[in-house]
Amino acid sequence: MRFYTFFLSLIVAVAAMAAGSDHYTVIVSLDGFRWDYPEAFDTPFLEQYFVKHGVKAVMMPSFPSKTFPNHYTLATGLYPDHHGILANKFKIRSTGKIYSLSKSETRSDPQYYGGDPIWLTARRQGVITATVYWVGSDVPIKGGYANYWKNYQTKPLLTFDERVNEVVRLLSLPEAERPHLVMAYFEEPDHAGHNNGPVTMATRRSVEHLDSLLSGLWHRIQSLPHGTQVNLIVTGDHGMTWLSRYRLIRPSYYLKDEWVERIDGDYPALITARKPKYIDDIVRALQDVPHLRAWKRGELPSYLHYGTHENTADVVVLPDVGWTFGEKAPTIQGSHGFDHTCSDMLVAFRAVGPDFKQGYVREQYFRNVCVYPLLAHLLGVEPSPNDGSLAEVQDLLR
Ligand code: AMP
Ligand code: ZN
Ligand code: ZN
Repeated sequence: MRFYTFFLSLIVAVAAMAAGSDHYTVIVSLDGFRWDYPEAFDTPFLEQYFVKHGVKAVMMPSFPSKTFPNHYTLATGLYPDHHGILANKFKIRSTGKIYSLSKSETRSDPQYYGGDPIWLTARRQGVITATVYWVGSDVPIKGGYANYWKNYQTKPLLTFDERVNEVVRLLSLPEAERPHLVMAYFEEPDHAGHNNGPVTMATRRSVEHLDSLLSGLWHRIQSLPHGTQVNLIVTGDHGMTWLSRYRLIRPSYYLKDEWVERIDGDYPALITARKPKYIDDIVRALQDVPHLRAWKRGELPSYLHYGTHENTADVVVLPDVGWTFGEKAPTIQGSHGFDHTCSDMLVAFRAVGPDFKQGYVREQYFRNVCVYPLLAHLLGVEPSPNDGSLAEVQDLLR
């Protein structure tokens, strides 16, 4: 009988653990938040505060280092090749349709979003979740959303101040309605980086504004009755590098019109051949062109983790960092999408709260596929199969 009672209390204890953590986690994504911005600019919160009270690290995005693939990688722990959002724009092989972040019909179609985003993983296991904009969060993936979510298609978008207010409002809800996961997205400093270049006065202004905005958010969170139970992660999707209008490789100089049906995107450029027989011609023509690499679908080097998905383009062309493969010289100053292992594409990662070490600076970067298992751990839920590993980021935790 005593054994039976012991066994019963053990089951109750395990069930209570499985129901999730009593901590809360807020993850903020700053689009294009390059790894060195907090060091380059005057950011007392994102640099000094985290170095003293939390964790400072560098994160490597997944290839291609673009917004849609990487936000959805952060959410699912899967490489783009495995979740299916292969670029901001790509062709769907079976239908010939074009998936594009700016085309609402495909952008909002759940069939393109593979994997199990964390807001669904956790919600299914009884954890209340919320998003304040995040790639995929306003798409009915597997028919569902987070408990609270915002549509990025509804304009005008919330201002940055309103997004901060919304995060605080969500964390101030009565306990039974309060989300344990809040994911919030800000489209800066990406715009500043594109329009002006990575380390410029405009990008400085953008990052320093975000620094004070997030400092305010954290102080408001800390003043909540349960403030000490809240973790805050600040990170992003990719870095930013300088472009040059002189670093231009014109496709028409190397490729015959009859070979190419279309070229989508820039860094990388995704080529669809008019006929399968032209694929080899295209690759051969680009083989020895300086400052770019071109691969046939299925033949990309393994470190890119790209090229097995059926919607992979016939030929993937990756210019060297800062080079453009296109007919026209770039009119913007900065961009991203290049080889995800190059330093300009790396992302800043900051974390503070009850589950994170205090005053820990990690020198070696980790892969962004590890954020999903990290969030699952912080929420006390079982992660779905993913490409990341908790062990890779375990040292950030207390
Ligand atoms: P890029 O810098 O080319 O990778 O694209 C970034 C753009 O994606 C930003 O300008 C955002 O406005 C846009 N964006 C971010 N999240 C979403 C979303 N959920 N739906 C539509 N567009 C988005
Ligand atoms: Zn981005
Ligand atoms: Zn961008």
